[in-house]
Amino acid sequence: MIQITLPDGSVKEYAKGSTPMDVAKSISEGLARNVISAKYNDTTVETTTPMTQNGSLTLYTFNDDEGKKAFWHSSAHVLAQAITTFYPDVKLTIGPAIDNGFYYDLDLGDDVISEKDFPAIEKKFLELARGKHEFKMREVSKADALAKYKEEGNQYKVELIENLTDGDITFCDHSDFTDLCRGGHIPNTGIIKAVKITSAAGAYWRGDEKNNQLTRIYGVSFPKQKMLTEYLALLEEAKKRDHRKLGKELELFAFSSKVGQGLPLWLPKGAALRERLEGFLKKAQKKAGYQTVMTPHIGQKELYVTSGHYAKYGEDSFQPISTPKEGEEFLLKPMNCPHHCEIFNNKPYSYKDLPVRFAEFGTVYRYEQSGELHGLTRVRGFTQDDAHIFCTPDQLDEEFKNVIDLVLYVFGSLGFEDFTAQVSIRDMQNLDKYIGNVENWEKAEQAIINAATDKGLDFVIEEGEAAFYGPKLDFMVKDALGRSWQLGTIQVDYNLPERFELQYKGSDNQLHRPIMIHRAPFGSMERFIAVLLEHTGGKFPLWLTPEQVILLPISEKYQKYAEKVLHLLENDEIRALVDDRNEKTGRKIRDAEVNKIPFMLIVGEQEEKDGTVSVRKQGEGDIGTFKIDEFVSFIQKEINSTIKQF
Ligand SMILES: [Zn+2]
Ligand SMILES: [Zn+2]
Repeated sequence: MIQITLPDGSVKEYAKGSTPMDVAKSISEGLARNVISAKYNDTTVETTTPMTQNGSLTLYTFNDDEGKKAFWHSSAHVLAQAITTFYPDVKLTIGPAIDNGFYYDLDLGDDVISEKDFPAIEKKFLELARGKHEFKMREVSKADALAKYKEEGNQYKVELIENLTDGDITFCDHSDFTDLCRGGHIPNTGIIKAVKITSAAGAYWRGDEKNNQLTRIYGVSFPKQKMLTEYLALLEEAKKRDHRKLGKELELFAFSSKVGQGLPLWLPKGAALRERLEGFLKKAQKKAGYQTVMTPHIGQKELYVTSGHYAKYGEDSFQPISTPKEGEEFLLKPMNCPHHCEIFNNKPYSYKDLPVRFAEFGTVYRYEQSGELHGLTRVRGFTQDDAHIFCTPDQLDEEFKNVIDLVLYVFGSLGFEDFTAQVSIRDMQNLDKYIGNVENWEKAEQAIINAATDKGLDFVIEEGEAAFYGPKLDFMVKDALGRSWQLGTIQVDYNLPERFELQYKGSDNQLHRPIMIHRAPFGSMERFIAVLLEHTGGKFPLWLTPEQVILLPISEKYQKYAEKVLHLLENDEIRALVDDRNEKTGRKIRDAEVNKIPFMLIVGEQEEKDGTVSVRKQGEGDIGTFKIDEFVSFIQKEINSTIKQF
């Protein structure tokens, strides 16, 4: 008998040679139906792998990431098999699972696979899958493995095998198809009920452009047709919400090849939006005791050598700027922190002055390869909502709680309701790779955990994920389409206070190093606005949206009245404009809908006579006729309901 420990800690006895599937069956019929992969003593195994020793076992279904991985990797085998039926001379290379599906890299020789071939491949794929062929692993000697692929003339597999150790080589068979593979498959092909080939692209063998170019076929598959339909609808929606598309449509930002790649240009509406976001955070920061500071966009190279950022960004980022005076070198700032450290060093502090909190919307520049650039999420110049808190070890607890409050306030006011947090602490097996004293680390890790618990965060603790200079807390938000984004980081730092020799006088009259906390609830304005666009589809919370109201006079005759209403709204700080184009009202309404303006006020003869407006809500239609002052208090109430109090 062998003892198997399950994730809940329970230990059960099974006959030697039992498989993960046997274990699933002993737990429940339902689990046995759904289990598709397993981890046995930290190795991914098949559900049919016999277990011969005591060990721990985790069973996976399609709902687990590991389950999806096995499902999609197995699908890559079936894809390769389907393609082989159409292109018998194809040379197969590798076919891994990825975040959203799988791909297979193929050398098609002179053949080409394009979109028009996808339906036939999908059809063949499903036909093969329906055969319920089992995936079976088989050990092969290096010589046999090499012989097979040399005979096929597949230099790619030969190269892969040459780098493997004899005794460590396995093939996977299913149906009449065999592939070199390490394992990690679902029980049989019949579980795959739906597939979509999503694209074909060029890819170099081993990612090296000096090598042969291959064809990469991407696909995604599911255990239910309904899941594929939902996934495709989600993709469609994601396309509509692409922040690059919305940014253009809503005239928020642009890029110019003359200005340079990855350097966003904020258009008037986008700049106004950014200003409102900055104003919103500044107001909350002021209440939370932050002081605004401002620092230049460049600094002496020496500054970044001191901070250690030169070692990190120097060679691989923008190169130093030299001046007419020989020997002078300046760097575009990659981080605001060194500047803030020098602000702290500007005067002596006593423990009574701490914590000190310096905030700056600071623009930083980092070189990214052009292939890595993506809309506003990967840029070469961006503005962080940065702040640095300098405090004593005893103040960490309180400061962490305050920063969490601020982050939650930001999320709450911008409609991010679904988020989790991660506390990154030291790798307890490798304590010597961290700087700073052990007592402070323990205090800081405990402070973060206490603060996260106290604030009711849904968080996980990740051992070994801390930076060498301090533990941190990261927030992951889920957007409206269920995609995760990392937003908001709170990082403890023992390194920079040391490097910049920061000091304060303690109650013992001795000099001590303060602890530094870096924090940025938005992360960067660019990335945050991108995420916000994709989350809201451009329908921003009412308090933030560029134009809250548009007045639509039904003809030129009512222009005057519209202007009058506009001024009344503006007096109450409601952002409004008049659509004075000589267009039909229907057209004006349609355009306002597209521009996602929350309220449309239609004015004509009756409205002018009664001193009223007819109100349409974007996406909802007519909501009735209001006296002007009634509408003002109505919209003010609506605005206030979308922004939390801090
Ligand atoms: Zn495989
Ligand atoms: Zn910093």
